[in-house]
Amino acid sequence: MMIDMHCHLDLYEEPFKIAQQCKEKGIYVLSVTTTPSAWYGTRKLELGSKNIKTALGLHPELASDRSHELELFDELLPEAKYIGEIGLDGSPRLKSSWQLQIKVFRHILKSVHRSGGRIMSIHSRGSANSVLEELINVDGYPIFHWFSGTKEELKKAIDFGSWFSISPTMLSTKKGFEITSSIPMNKIITETDAPFTKYKNIITYPWDVHYCFEHLSLIWKIPQEEVQIQIKNNFKALLSETA
Ligand code: MN
Repeated sequence: MMIDMHCHLDLYEEPFKIAQQCKEKGIYVLSVTTTPSAWYGTRKLELGSKNIKTALGLHPELASDRSHELELFDELLPEAKYIGEIGLDGSPRLKSSWQLQIKVFRHILKSVHRSGGRIMSIHSRGSANSVLEELINVDGYPIFHWFSGTKEELKKAIDFGSWFSISPTMLSTKKGFEITSSIPMNKIITETDAPFTKYKNIITYPWDVHYCFEHLSLIWKIPQEEVQIQIKNNFKALLSETA
């Protein structure tokens, strides 16, 4: 079973075609959204497959444009079992929206907490410390998607009990490979963050998560078949935490 724990299915040029292929291949896809208003359209991509799940999100890069959609977020939350993409982005180009990003993220976490917690796919570029601070005392199951923080931040995130989703693209960088090597093997799930990621210069699709197996096989020093079993077991463990 292949698992893509963070994919923007709705942002492919031909989303239905890709979703159909995922359905046929039986791939588990957490189909994340960047705005609450994308919820309805993106849900249609589930195509009745029990393996394609839509996550309700509000991407930090859109916090300034879409903070007015928080009301809609709260309205949709009862029907959303998964949350993402949410988080904070500390990139210099987004400095002007930082305070608003914090406001939006806090609002979301408060709502999630009140609703009894959710699996959350979290963006933490240049902001892992701040994200972790916000997560304290919040009921939920954070998955740091494409973690890129410092060693100290990584240690904190691991000690916090977080999950991590890693992609072929992340693993093909030295930093991403090193970060992944430092994460406990029972806390790792695969993802693509497609369609905006490339692997070996080619745009990625959910089924490309299999490229992670080669890299993880090197890191964990076990055959790829065992890597697949480990990832599947991790995924089951994550879902059972929330059951
Ligand atoms: Mn993403």
